[in-house]
Amino acid sequence: MPSTPARLWVVATPLGNLGDFSPRAREVLGRVDVILAEDTRRTGLLLKSAAIEPAKLLSFFEHNEEQRIAEVLAMLEQGKEVALVSDAGTPLIADPGYRLVRVCRQEGHTVSPVPGPSAVLAALMACGLPPYPFTFLGFLPRKEGERGRLFEQLAPFPGTIVFYERKNRVVPALRTAARHLGGRCFCLARELTKKHEQFINGRLGEDLDHLEGLKGEMTVVIGPREGPVRTDEEEIERILEEESAR
Ligand code: SAM
Repeated sequence: MPSTPARLWVVATPLGNLGDFSPRAREVLGRVDVILAEDTRRTGLLLKSAAIEPAKLLSFFEHNEEQRIAEVLAMLEQGKEVALVSDAGTPLIADPGYRLVRVCRQEGHTVSPVPGPSAVLAALMACGLPPYPFTFLGFLPRKEGERGRLFEQLAPFPGTIVFYERKNRVVPALRTAARHLGGRCFCLARELTKKHEQFINGRLGEDLDHLEGLKGEMTVVIGPREGPVRTDEEEIERILEEESAR
C-alpha cells in the first residue's frame, strides 16, 4: 500500500518578531492542504508577510474544536496534510489544540511538531531566574479565591513558577502570590521579542505600584522558594504521629 503524506503538523509562529518565523514553519505552512488557525485574519496577515498563499485556511478555536476534530480526522483519512497554528507562539501552550492532538494520536495518525517561539521559554531564557525545575500554570484562574488556593498549593514547590496573565491582572496576581509564596524573586517579561521588550525584576512583598498600568503582553516568572520551608499544621501532626509510633 502506498504511504500517504497524511499528518497533523503543530507549528509554532512568531510571538511578534517576524525574524523568528522559521524556514521549516514557512515551508510546512506553504505546503499543507489545510491550515487551522485560531484567528484566520491574523494568521492570514502573517502568511501574507511571508508571501505564503495558503491552500485553505480554517478557523480553529475552543468553541468549534469538537466539530473540527471530526473534519480533521476525515481529511487525514483522505491522506491530507493539516497544520495547526495559534495566534502567536506555540499551539496547545495555553492555546487550543490538545484535544485534537490527542484524538489524532489515538486514531493512529502521525502528529509532528514544528517547534519555535513560546513565551514561557523565551521568558525563562532571559529573566535571570533559575530556569528549571519549573512549573507552568498557563493563565491563572480569574477569581481571587481560586488564585489564592492555587498559590497556596504551590507554596511547598521548590522550583520556578511561570504563568501568563493579562496586563490589568498582573499586579493583583503578584499581590496574591506574595501572600502565599513569601519573599521570592520575580520577573515580569513584557513584549518578548518585540521592539519594547522589557524584563522587570523584583521581589514579592515589595511595593508593586510602579507596575500598575503597564501595557502589552506579559509573562510572569516567580523564582524558587528561599529560606526555610514553611511547615503547615498537617505536616507537623504527621511528623508527631510518626515519632510517637516509633
Ligand atoms: N501559546 C503561546 C505561547 O506559548 O507562546 C501563548 C498564547 S497565550 C493565549 C497568550 C499569552 O502569552 C499572553 O497573554 C501573555 O501572557 C503571553 N505572551 C504571548 N506573547 C508574549 C510576549 N511577546 N511577551 C510576553 N508574554 C507573551
